[in-house]
Amino acid sequence: MSFIDKLRCVKCGRDYTQADTQYVCPICGSEGILEVLYDYDRVRGRFNHRILRESNERSMWRYLPLLPIEHRPESLTLQIGWTPLYESRRIGNSLNLDRVWFKDDGRNPTASLKDRASAIAIVKAGELGFKTIAVASTGNAGSSLAGLAANAGVATYIFVPSSAPTGKIAQLRAFGGHVFLVDGNYDQAFDLCLSVSRRFGWYNRNTAYNPYMVEGKKTVALEIAEQLSFQAPDTVIVPVGDGCIVSGVAKGFRDLAALGIIDHMPRLIAVQADGCAPIIQALRTGLPVACLDKPRSCADSIVAGVPRNSLMAVRDIRLSGGMGITVTDEEIIDAIGFLGSNEGIFAEPAAAAGIAALRKLAVQGDLSRSERIVVIITGNGLKDVQNAMRVRGSVCTVAPSPDDVIAAVMQGF
Ligand SMILES: [Zn+2]
Repeated sequence: MSFIDKLRCVKCGRDYTQADTQYVCPICGSEGILEVLYDYDRVRGRFNHRILRESNERSMWRYLPLLPIEHRPESLTLQIGWTPLYESRRIGNSLNLDRVWFKDDGRNPTASLKDRASAIAIVKAGELGFKTIAVASTGNAGSSLAGLAANAGVATYIFVPSSAPTGKIAQLRAFGGHVFLVDGNYDQAFDLCLSVSRRFGWYNRNTAYNPYMVEGKKTVALEIAEQLSFQAPDTVIVPVGDGCIVSGVAKGFRDLAALGIIDHMPRLIAVQADGCAPIIQALRTGLPVACLDKPRSCADSIVAGVPRNSLMAVRDIRLSGGMGITVTDEEIIDAIGFLGSNEGIFAEPAAAAGIAALRKLAVQGDLSRSERIVVIITGNGLKDVQNAMRVRGSVCTVAPSPDDVIAAVMQGF
């Protein structure tokens, strides 16, 4: 059973029950994103160190009492969540940092963190009696919903920009959802998906519209805390587009603090690309988020010119004592190779943005040597091979002749 107490509007602070509204605050409209609050006294009896230690569940469902769903779903058999947290082998040392970890969420079934939210959408749609789910996405949320829905046997309509990376569109083709390649950007696909979902009565998984998506994404923070024996990290570095993952991370740690399971909140460092940084600008200036007409970056997953979760994200980053940083496309591409060659982890550009930020902050002296830092790798590099091909690497083209290879090696290759 679910222990939800109420849904609270991030804009006006009004409280609702689940029966009052399925999506946003009826008074505030699209800006009135709802936050899910639990009856923590009741959760406490079902969620503690002992119960987690004895659990054999190696997926996000091990945190069921803190999730907005009634039961562990039988319809989904893919393993979602419980991804590895790797302590850095070389990057930390090279940056004079002693304690750095990488949370590799590219290891989820469709190779991105979005699976954590899609799983909740599928369960929630089933509980509410919907047969069809729709989503607008830069690519990952779409391929994630399509893959998990294929596993659960649910119909999907997916709206993605036609410019989405080939790897993500290939996943959509393979997973068999109905795919609309929108001749426009993500922000346009978002509005299109909303209006058509209303017309046909589809359940909507859009991020920062459906209040339960943050609840799925927060499981990444629950895992990080548990994998660090509930010693919360000091700093978590998170790539930011719409701002839902960063709010999910904040929510996960906040829930654990409310239950008395961790004793401090990590500071959250939000990372955006130079060509699309409305949330970082708002953090720096203190002004409301100014949307961008023509956002640009190679890191497609974080290209959201109209960040839908900006109110909650800016609030969460500030409350954590955190900050924002931008990185260039060149730094992002470089970071793909830096992470791959030093740690053996392959990140898509948006995920590599977190590594680029780690490097930049370390060089600027914004991180202390003993600080315990986690960088969330939000998606796998095979999602976007075209950009990965921009990494210089160590590549030498030769004729199929031993002499050529021997000569190359003798010359220091
Ligand atoms: Zn409201």
